[in-house]
Amino acid sequence: MTELSGWGRYPRHPSDVLSPPSPSAVPPLMTSHTGLVARGNGRAYGDAAIGEQVTLVTRRLDRIRAFDPSTGRIRVEAGLLLADLLDVMVPKGFFPPVVPGTKFVTVGGMIASDVHGKNHHRDGGFGDHVESLTLASPDGGIATCSSTENGDLFRATIGGMGLTGTILEATFRMRPVETGWMRQQTIVATDLDKALDALRASGEATYSVAWIDCLAKGRSLGRSLIFAAEHATRRDLEALQPAADAFPSARSGRLSVPLDLPAFALNRLSVGAFNEMYFRAGAMKAGYPFLVHWNPYFFPLDGIGDWNRIYGRRGFLQYQCVIPTAQAGPALSRILERIAQRGLASFLAVLKQMGPSQGDLSFPMEGFTLALDLPVSDAAFPLLDELDRTVVEAGGRLYLAKDARQSPATFEAGYSGLPRFRDLRRAIGATGRISSRLSARLGI
Ligand SMILES: Cc1cc2nc3c(=O)[nH]c(=O)nc-3n(C[C@H](O)[C@H](O)[C@H](O)COP(=O)(O)OP(=O)(O)OC[C@H]3O[C@@H](n4cnc5c(N)ncnc54)[C@H](O)[C@@H]3O)c2cc1C
Repeated sequence: MTELSGWGRYPRHPSDVLSPPSPSAVPPLMTSHTGLVARGNGRAYGDAAIGEQVTLVTRRLDRIRAFDPSTGRIRVEAGLLLADLLDVMVPKGFFPPVVPGTKFVTVGGMIASDVHGKNHHRDGGFGDHVESLTLASPDGGIATCSSTENGDLFRATIGGMGLTGTILEATFRMRPVETGWMRQQTIVATDLDKALDALRASGEATYSVAWIDCLAKGRSLGRSLIFAAEHATRRDLEALQPAADAFPSARSGRLSVPLDLPAFALNRLSVGAFNEMYFRAGAMKAGYPFLVHWNPYFFPLDGIGDWNRIYGRRGFLQYQCVIPTAQAGPALSRILERIAQRGLASFLAVLKQMGPSQGDLSFPMEGFTLALDLPVSDAAFPLLDELDRTVVEAGGRLYLAKDARQSPATFEAGYSGLPRFRDLRRAIGATGRISSRLSARLGI
């Protein structure tokens, strides 16, 4: 048995770990074990990628099987790391259709969480771009799934948190890009209403995301910097940075946090000072376009290896909710007010606009999503229970890939596709056989 946790290092559970060397080694494992779930690179924050008894790590299934440069269509094994895909494809002029905020995730993990990027409002989630996938199912067989073949299983697997089987391979299309640079504009919003308006107004941009200062109070509540961007064209590059390489290499230097910092390193004063400095520095760049390398634009935290250790031994919780558009202003301001009042510091808070999604358990819905980090503490749990009530009242929900503590009632209130998902699990023999700590906790 090995003690496993997600990226938040809370909770930790013992599990047997299997690491099959190839896709063909997976199907027999699906019938010879129960209480099993797949794990990619363990970047889900909570307990989604920990098997109730057995955890099947897919990292050795990491090959690119086919690529057609005339269409961008690519077929890969599910344990391939997004970082490796980027290393190979960006210099060829192709970028994945959707990327989350870290590149240290696997393709299987991106499908199972139906991850969203900074372009969800325009392009949907990663699952919307998957043309087909193969799945090692609970009966030991391999099912090919797409919107036209085994459609119900396909929709349940996208965003299904590994609970329909183990994804072995996936086919999707990469988007062509002229350079490896992003043309970014920063917009300053001095309060929450202005931030929501700016995100709506920048909806035409392919990518947009807001960094939000969740310690700001009163008239500054919700003050934000909005970063809107496009893949830079050759003409952008000539105009803004003529001497630059069209495809600069991914920056390799990674500063890492060697030890667990004591939790007081993240107290209200240090986070407040960081937020003030960050807001001012960002505001100075506002108003004119400039070029940013794709790596820091999409994956700013990846530059600091093991940053999850800065929260200390007890670990941390990420709270990510989505609120339908009509309720977003009042519900988000109530949530931000409570967080600012309690001073439970989070310097990593992000606000994004989302569109609808297809998967039965996919997280995104038309509205706005807020994500923030809180160190694990006795005070954090009752505060988050209180925030859950605001989310449920507003018709919103919490992201399973970030969750470590929501109640079954909060979960059921948010996910209307849950009965259909449970029926499908029963029909394919997954109930009881394929289960994670998350599915056991939430009764999925
Ligand atoms: C710094 C950071 C930033 C992030 N930013 C975003 C963001 O912007 N948007 C977003 O949507 N998410 C974001 N995430 C969450 C992350 O993208 C998801 O949790 C993703 O699923 C992690 O991929 P993984 O390969 O590490 O999967 P794991 O964490 O190992 O597993 C996640 C889920 O996928 C399932 N799974 C994994 N592989 C397979 C497989 N082959 N077959 C079936 N099921 C499988 C697991 O059972 C589990 O339920 C972020 C996470 C971090 C740490």
